[in-house]
Amino acid sequence: MQIAILCIGSVDMNVLESIQRSLCDVFPEVSCDILKPTMPIPEKAYNPSRHQYHSSNILSKIRDHVEKSGADRILGVTEVDLYVPRLNFVFGEGECPGKTAIISLSRLKPEFYGEPSDWNLFAERSAKEAVHEVGHTLGLEHCRNSACIMFFSNNIQMTDTKKLKFCEKCWPKVLRSTSLFAK
Ligand SMILES: [Zn+2]
Ligand SMILES: [Zn+2]
Repeated sequence: MQIAILCIGSVDMNVLESIQRSLCDVFPEVSCDILKPTMPIPEKAYNPSRHQYHSSNILSKIRDHVEKSGADRILGVTEVDLYVPRLNFVFGEGECPGKTAIISLSRLKPEFYGEPSDWNLFAERSAKEAVHEVGHTLGLEHCRNSACIMFFSNNIQMTDTKKLKFCEKCWPKVLRSTSLFAK
């Protein structure tokens, strides 16, 4: 499986490279590239009353990059805060199944919660959200196991609790879906 990371707006290269390494570590038979050029933040997705960007709206713009990239999956990474209408915010969104996913780094930084900055914690959270959303694109739904990477987190403690790993129920589904891609 080929995953392309698409930077939306300006994002620190160190965290993109860290996400790239984590995707390669977790998924079997995967190659992962960081796309150039980056995509500008679609201003139409901005909701001024919420001060947030509509995640599904950005996702539809990411779709335009799929064919050109030649990748099996595209993961958008952005610094802006994302929402979907019925939720206060989302860490990310992924088509289930589909080819595109997005994560926001905004709420993964300890500073967001008034805590001192911690690069390793931030990188680990970013990896978890990235793997979770790519998991959705492979057709995996949310898992009830709170330690599983496919567990739904709607606060940062839940993200910190789960492991950067698919549980024994989800892992065979990952193997099945990824085996469909040419090596
Ligand atoms: Zn999810
Ligand atoms: Zn699971």
